[in-house]
Amino acid sequence: MGESVILDVLFPPRCPVCDGLVSVRATRCHPTCRKKLTTVGTDTCMHCGKPVPEGAAEYCYDCASKEESAFERGVSVFLYEGDIRDSMVRFKFHGREEYGAWYARELLAMHGRTLREFEPDAVIPVPVHRRKMRDRGYNQAERIARELADGLELPLYAGYLRRNRFTVPQKKLSNHERVRNLMRALEPGRQALRLSQQQKTPRRVILVDDIYTTGSTMEACSAVLRSTGVEHVMVATICIGGGYV
Ligand SMILES: [Zn+2]
Ligand SMILES: [Zn+2]
Repeated sequence: MGESVILDVLFPPRCPVCDGLVSVRATRCHPTCRKKLTTVGTDTCMHCGKPVPEGAAEYCYDCASKEESAFERGVSVFLYEGDIRDSMVRFKFHGREEYGAWYARELLAMHGRTLREFEPDAVIPVPVHRRKMRDRGYNQAERIARELADGLELPLYAGYLRRNRFTVPQKKLSNHERVRNLMRALEPGRQALRLSQQQKTPRRVILVDDIYTTGSTMEACSAVLRSTGVEHVMVATICIGGGYV
């Protein structure tokens, strides 16, 4: 066990925004730090949950041009910028796994009702490749998904999807090509096969990731979920990009 791990055990959790210590019984985030973050607000795309200009379109630019989508709806909490962006970097790359609990709590506070009304059967995280898992020690999406599943009192199917190939971001590709490429890197995991054998394939699932940008990851994962017999997918993320590609 490294020194930092021992320190994490001995000391109270840190604020996900400023990384300063917070008392265990507090809300896990300083109230003044929480105020610095920008939430998605009420004018959001009816499909993916991305902010849209006030009172303007029902769908964002990306979704308006999409012919079809494998998921039904998306919800997110914060605009991916500034302090929450830095927070996500520490969460993903600097071992601040503990932030996941607070992220999930914020997700439940803002969208708990919508998520429950969807009547989901299970919560499924976007998978990471085992090489990333080895470097990082955990799957950040799974960390959030586990807390969300707890809060919604649903089973967590962390082994339902599997990433079989290491993909590099391919910015030059169109959205459609990116989804196709990602789909080739994904497959149903052992858990999906086992549930199918038991005729217990979930019908309605919440798919969880940390950040939603172009939506290609969510499209690809949803398409693979649908191929296993899942009928309805809702996607939930902590941060969402405001721009378009
Ligand atoms: Zn703080
Ligand atoms: Zn949209």
